[in-house]
Amino acid sequence: MIEAMGYAARHANSRLKPLSFERDEAGPREVEVQVLFCGVCHSDIHQVKDDWGNTVYPCMPGHEIVGRVTRVGEGVTRHAVGDLVGVGCMIDSCGECDACKRGEQQYCGGPNSWLATYNGPMVPAAKAPTRENMYGRDNTYGGYSSVLVVREDFVLKIPPALDAAAAAPVLCAGVTTYSPMKQWGVQAGSEVGVIGLGGLGHMAVKLAKAMGASVTVFTSSKDKLQDAERLGARGVLEKDKAALKGLASKLDFILSTVPEKHDLNPFVTLLKRDRTLCAVGALEPMVGLDNMQLAFHRTRVAGSLIGSIAETQEVLDFCAQHGIPPDIERIPIQDINHAFKRVNEGDVRFRYVIDMATLADED
Ligand SMILES: [Zn+2]
Ligand SMILES: [Zn+2]
Repeated sequence: MIEAMGYAARHANSRLKPLSFERDEAGPREVEVQVLFCGVCHSDIHQVKDDWGNTVYPCMPGHEIVGRVTRVGEGVTRHAVGDLVGVGCMIDSCGECDACKRGEQQYCGGPNSWLATYNGPMVPAAKAPTRENMYGRDNTYGGYSSVLVVREDFVLKIPPALDAAAAAPVLCAGVTTYSPMKQWGVQAGSEVGVIGLGGLGHMAVKLAKAMGASVTVFTSSKDKLQDAERLGARGVLEKDKAALKGLASKLDFILSTVPEKHDLNPFVTLLKRDRTLCAVGALEPMVGLDNMQLAFHRTRVAGSLIGSIAETQEVLDFCAQHGIPPDIERIPIQDINHAFKRVNEGDVRFRYVIDMATLADED
């Protein structure tokens, strides 16, 4: 067993507190990673607070992980001790279903779907013999910890051109916005709308700009109009009806990054015919859609979940190639509860990244 240490919540109303635990040693195809940095994703807060009704406690979040390989199993071929690597939202999948065979592990249709980096597989390991838990392990613990052990196929390479701390948010925020933009054909000359300008939103703007698109940011906060401009986008207040009217039927693709339910109807009308609005920020029932608007322009509203392992590597390389790391603020792990509060209040324009070396201060 490997002695490990992390920060976890004991129940839905609990603050994150230090927790000592053990991890299994790396198996033949697994890699042991010393965690250096971990991004703070809005999902971490949803999961800790049991907003999706599926949290297993203790809950140790973190799925934007950058670290150094410290040990490899004897069958590992992709990674070597000393490599700088990343781990995102998934650490395993069934490998046999249609989605997995197509390399789209995030849509794994296996009995337990893909194995989440934390809070997976949500079925006790004791159910393994009955095949109700194909992964044979209990509640997984994420990257708010000192060490991780992951199957080598789910470990990404961090390109040398990316700063190690800044690379962390690419592993969730980056790929979550990159995958749908690729799916719906954002390219040079595209007119793209981005709703919300937080961790996901600012990454969406950077990626779309680097793809050669023109970007309009829709925000409810006046303060963020300037941030949009700083990123090379046009900023529009959501309640500015005249501005929205001027954009009617002008956009090729819209990405909503707002982390909770909201009304998409005012934005659907901005799409050109046959185009798509994709919501990636919220995982909950949304406000009702006016099908009149959709029908008259054959537009669609879609969802999208993170991105595949291949796409995660692609977006890491893309960010390195275009020099567009996420904007981050480094914090010690001891500030995590304060960071959660700030993210929850929506007044964060960048991504918090935990410097996991500060875990040593717990001793
Ligand atoms: Zn995330
Ligand atoms: Zn599968």
